[in-house]
Amino acid sequence: EIRLRFAPSPTGYLHVGGARTALFNWLYARKMGGKFILRMEDTDLQRSSKEYELAIMEALRWCGIDWDEGPDVGGEFGPYRQSERTALGIYKNYAQILIEKQRAYYTVYDKLDNKKPILTTYDYPKEYVENGHDVTISFKVLPGKTRFNDLLKGEIEFDNSTIEDFVMIKSDGFPTYNYAVVIDDHLMKISHVFRGEDHVSNTPKQLMIYEAFGWQPPQFMHIPLILGFDRTPLSKRHGATAVEHFRTIGILSRGLMNYLALLGWSVEEEIFNVKEKISSFDPYKISNKGVIFDPQKLEWVNGKHMRMMDTEELWNEFVEWIKYTQKRIPTCDKQYALKVIRICREKVNTLSQLYEMSYSFFFDDFEYQQEFVNEYLNSPYAERLLKAALLTFQQLENWSVEGTEKACRQLAELQIASKNKTFQLLRGAVTGKLVTPGLFETLSVLGKQKVIERLEKALS
Ligand code: GLU
Repeated sequence: EIRLRFAPSPTGYLHVGGARTALFNWLYARKMGGKFILRMEDTDLQRSSKEYELAIMEALRWCGIDWDEGPDVGGEFGPYRQSERTALGIYKNYAQILIEKQRAYYTVYDKLDNKKPILTTYDYPKEYVENGHDVTISFKVLPGKTRFNDLLKGEIEFDNSTIEDFVMIKSDGFPTYNYAVVIDDHLMKISHVFRGEDHVSNTPKQLMIYEAFGWQPPQFMHIPLILGFDRTPLSKRHGATAVEHFRTIGILSRGLMNYLALLGWSVEEEIFNVKEKISSFDPYKISNKGVIFDPQKLEWVNGKHMRMMDTEELWNEFVEWIKYTQKRIPTCDKQYALKVIRICREKVNTLSQLYEMSYSFFFDDFEYQQEFVNEYLNSPYAERLLKAALLTFQQLENWSVEGTEKACRQLAELQIASKNKTFQLLRGAVTGKLVTPGLFETLSVLGKQKVIERLEKALS
């Protein structure tokens, strides 16, 4: 059976690198009709928290990445939190097996200097433990070579002499990452492990443990890391990288997933819905080169989705996002809202830009942009032009785009100001802004009543 997993440590929010790793594992599991498992690697008690665990799960759900087994939904091979597995004694019991095979041993530390080993032994150092000494269990590395065939990088070989014996169980009783990951991947019957390239050097240690138990290891694939513009691994230094950040600034889930899929996976098209591409996902086609994270490209991809998707779907996601960011929800009728969204999405790439762009279509309490006030509203021709506009629009019956265009052109022909100034003054008066959807569309969608009210307000 094909079983993949995502195994985050809940020591921070889900960042885009983690989301991409989760996505590739999920894509392959879904493509193969296998299972996708979520496991919390929360053995670092100091740094792990429930809050991060919940945030990671919420971010994954938002990404559309669902799991068949996990800490919240349970499953046949649970529990799915390493802290709970530790409490059940799973890691210690398996360590015992390796000690019996003399592939692992106890180390006793000095009571005063708990960094200083004073004894190593295959027998349980009962007296020392009772005496309060720190005791760890370490894996014994044997001479030889350890090799594996990485799905992406091909054959990788390590000389065991470059690897020292390493701790499996710490003195606090918790397992280390390299040990726990093997026990869990084995017990959870994981068939494929796709993870960041930063784990290549951990792989020989893990393979030695598989070998010592006589277990079959999973297939490994190490994916190049996502890099910042300076070609160093993407980190907080490069700015915000958490999935929540991109959600907050109004990137759509489908936009983020599309962009993350592009980081390494070369598909024919550039813009696609990842959910519709599951069957064409091919891990062998993932690029083995580092890929640079470009937030502007992400916004561009997102903008494409905003314009491509069904308006009603975009509206629904927009409302969800407004709730998520606790902004004010428009209370207009749906047909009006859809018209607004349709014209406003042409010029924006994110939901927050859409919010800005559409604000004065939904709310009357918008403010005038300073530039509009200085350059247009306070100009000597403003009053005459606004009065003329008021008259024109009061008489206007045809509020189609053609109708409003005709009215605007008639106003320009009065030559109170240049055509450009005429249009900008109108635009600013009815929206407060100088960059909006097309002026005629804007007037047409706003409609007679709002346009008149706003011209009157600009005159007052
Ligand atoms: N908890 C590890 C991490 O977050 C998992 C690595 C792995 O996939 O083996 O890096």
